[in-house]
Amino acid sequence: MAILNADLHCHSTVSDGTLEPEALAARAHANGVELWALTDHDELGGQQRALHAARALGLPYLTGVEISVTFAGLTVHIVGLGIDPDDAQLGDGLARTRSGREQRAREMAEQLAAVGIPGAFEGALKYVGNPELISRTHFARFLVEAGICHDTHDVFRRFLTEGKPGFVAHRWAALGDAVRWIREAGGVAVIAHPARYAHPSPTHEYALFAEFKAHGGQAVEVVSGSHSAAEALRYADLALEFGLAASRGSDFHSPDESHTDLGALPLLEGRLTPVWELLADRIIH
Ligand code: AMP
Ligand code: MN
Ligand code: MN
Ligand code: MN
Repeated sequence: MAILNADLHCHSTVSDGTLEPEALAARAHANGVELWALTDHDELGGQQRALHAARALGLPYLTGVEISVTFAGLTVHIVGLGIDPDDAQLGDGLARTRSGREQRAREMAEQLAAVGIPGAFEGALKYVGNPELISRTHFARFLVEAGICHDTHDVFRRFLTEGKPGFVAHRWAALGDAVRWIREAGGVAVIAHPARYAHPSPTHEYALFAEFKAHGGQAVEVVSGSHSAAEALRYADLALEFGLAASRGSDFHSPDESHTDLGALPLLEGRLTPVWELLADRIIH
């Protein structure tokens, strides 16, 4: 199968993106994307809208989701592609994964209030498109609006991350559960943006890849909006070492915030197996 301009990772207002699924479909199509997936955090509520919009544009589509996972004390993200959006086990698992977010957000707001930033819960809620999916991104937008930080990246440097005000440790889904939900819903599990994790040791990263593979995970994002060229090379090598297919996704959230637009990524190297080869029968035309 050809090396496509595939973009298999992005977010809509159904999670922490700022564009509606239909607007993302139009933007992907306009940017020359040849295979697209919407992968909202822990949520499938945008899938029907995305696939209908894609179909109307003649843009081939794969269903998608990005599951928040706690692996050996670290938050990692596992993308599921080609899943049945009506699968009950996946739907229930995602609902449980979402369920702690409101309480976590209240605790984040308490911490921010304690450092002199009141009203952050209500402030973040103004940016939330889906009441079950209040995320750190929504807090980041409020802190920019309030003039406390000049952009959302600055927010994550100063707040909301480990050791900073507004960080609340949270237990997400287990790695084995997330991979099983994806597989049993007919999909392929993908380690998202692997270069973005602060592994406490090289062994920890090796364990993530080994356990992911042992649970039936089949792919890793090699080309990502949050990877440098050197990081893409490193994870291309690791994909080959672990016998994983390779995925490609911008992780686009917003025209105002994201450095990498939909479809604007280097192509996958020819030595890799593109993840869409494993998903040929799941592509919706
Ligand atoms: P949550 O699922 O609520 O923990 O929020 C995670 C989201 O925060 C990620 O999906 C990104 O959209 C955003 N995020 C995390 N770290 C950063 C960062 N350093 N810069 C910008 N956005 C970030
Ligand atoms: Mn996000
Ligand atoms: Mn992610
Ligand atoms: Mn993402």
